[in-house]
Amino acid sequence: MKTEKLKEDIQKLSQGCFPDDKEAYGKLIGDLGENEKAQQYLFEKARETAALTYGNKIYIRGLIEISNICKNNCYYCGIRKDNRKVSRYRLSPEIILECCRYGYDKGFRTFVLQGGEDPGLTDEKMVDLISKIHREFPDCGITLSLGEKERESYQRFFDAGADRYLLRHETADSSHYRKLHPPELSLHHRMECLEILKEIGYQTGCGCMIGSPYQTEENLGQDLVYLKRFQPHMVGIGPFISQKDTPFRDFSNGTLTRTLIMLGLIRLLLPQVLLPATTALGTIHPRGREMGILAGANVVMPNLSPRENRKKYLLYDNKLGTGEESGEGLELLKQQMSRIGYEVVTDRGDYKEKGMV
Ligand code: SAH
Repeated sequence: MKTEKLKEDIQKLSQGCFPDDKEAYGKLIGDLGENEKAQQYLFEKARETAALTYGNKIYIRGLIEISNICKNNCYYCGIRKDNRKVSRYRLSPEIILECCRYGYDKGFRTFVLQGGEDPGLTDEKMVDLISKIHREFPDCGITLSLGEKERESYQRFFDAGADRYLLRHETADSSHYRKLHPPELSLHHRMECLEILKEIGYQTGCGCMIGSPYQTEENLGQDLVYLKRFQPHMVGIGPFISQKDTPFRDFSNGTLTRTLIMLGLIRLLLPQVLLPATTALGTIHPRGREMGILAGANVVMPNLSPRENRKKYLLYDNKLGTGEESGEGLELLKQQMSRIGYEVVTDRGDYKEKGMV
């Protein structure tokens, strides 16, 4: 009976007639957690939905972690300013270009430049770097994930050739946001940045952690309300994983099941969205990435950073950096995906508007 009711809710959600409020979503998330049959139904619907736009294609993005220097102090993050145990680095433009060349040869057609909010990565340096990558790899997408900036900086990066920007909103509930961040950071400003990015013309990605400290089901419901309203092109979600040198060291990790449920629901709410099965998901379960794809995700982001830097970019404990999580392990990743019926493709993997299939 309960399963039938949940299946009906999932149907309604995919037809756009489920109530768009945080309590209703929150309850659905909670109830789904306790009903495996309904979960399977959700994942099946989510796969069907992804296939309508993207077929069985999996897009890969080459992640380059360009700096672990950060001026912020987010309570969950391993590279927060006050973590004295981190050995800090900033990659030189030449090294970053080398990572791109290596990735290009392997078939990557999108590079993601991610980093802490490093004041040493000035706008001039970034513009120069983006222009160089754009010139050498004109057929590749360039994604940035460098945190909150002024409109002018975002615009300059875009003009230099960046096409996409990832800025997770982390949680769409402002009082929950307060519990995860120091007072100088605000959800309001983060969301303003996301609006600006979209206005400029970036394919824009937001997203949140699943199971972060103090998070309620209703908070996750609020995330869905926000996603539906903002209509991002990409959504990055993954479980919160505690890091031993942060204030949140003693909190438990987000769960696999809840993350998969959120992936499935997001796929139904935003049928065309580019949705990665993230490294964090692969970290909490050896088959996490595959399970993410089978719950509606369609993107994987292997790591192209130089090996010696990967262990310094530890956002959370036990973060994967080798194996099929890396550029070197691409063959393994392809095999993994083909075993579950998906094909890793050499493609920029841009967002497809409705009706563009
Ligand atoms: N400085 C950039 C990039 C941040 S790192 C920015 O502000 O956007 C990328 C993402 O890693 C963050 O947005 C956050 O959601 C995630 N992250 C950080 N610490 C984490 C942790 N302990 N567990 C899981 N994810 C984490």
